[in-house]
Amino acid sequence: MKRQIKICHLYPEILNLYGDRGNVIALYRRCLWHGLAVHIQPVTVGEAVDFLDTDLVFIGGGQDREQAAIYRDLVEVKGPYLLAAAEQGMAILAVCGGFQLLGKYYRTQHGEIMKGVGLFDAWTEAGRGRLIGDVVLETDLWEEEPRTIVGFENHSGRTFLGEGVKQPLGRVLQGFGNDGASKMEGAVSGNAIGTYLHGSLLPKNPRLADYLIRCGLERRYGPEGSYLTTLNDELEYRAHQAAAQRAVARRC
Ligand code: GLN
Repeated sequence: MKRQIKICHLYPEILNLYGDRGNVIALYRRCLWHGLAVHIQPVTVGEAVDFLDTDLVFIGGGQDREQAAIYRDLVEVKGPYLLAAAEQGMAILAVCGGFQLLGKYYRTQHGEIMKGVGLFDAWTEAGRGRLIGDVVLETDLWEEEPRTIVGFENHSGRTFLGEGVKQPLGRVLQGFGNDGASKMEGAVSGNAIGTYLHGSLLPKNPRLADYLIRCGLERRYGPEGSYLTTLNDELEYRAHQAAAQRAVARRC
């Protein structure tokens, strides 16, 4: 009997900047390669989802107007249920605009405040100019090398982390990160990960993809049911290295 994993893709047609949908494709393919029965449920504004029967949620990024289009549904309708499921271990990957709206609030350049879900003890204030470019991080989420994570960022928001955030996703080696100053990027709380990294992120960071899949499996089957087979990630790491080298070259 195959183990199953249920993945919810929130607002796929609205929050999909720089190919963020590629993260769901990567999760889907890797789950199949790992021999799992994987179900992807796209959910948009006004549609119901049972987060108590969901193992992993993905929410992508978007411009301020796209965030404004979904944030009431996210915060007032789905938010309380998403929070409850996250507290029970549901895994989440939230990219950029999605990450911002899972924090306490996002204040835009025009001074509008979008209240967030409050999953991350973090808040975002739009700054002058945009933080744009290739990014390389070093993460403590796992011990085996490589512990680098690569991606692309483009955001006006500067995100600040409170005491309630367990750790950032990683330390910035190349790029700006959360605020262009702290050398921190992203946020981790429980099995929820927020990050500014587009790319899309997961195809070039297979260890992060498998980390999230294992978190999702653990939610459904417990630690003993979260094991994964070892895949040949040679192609993925060639893409990873190329992105890391590009990031270094562009900063010189
Ligand atoms: N609109 C937000 C900002 O500019 C998020 C952008 C994004 O998702 N790339 O910070």
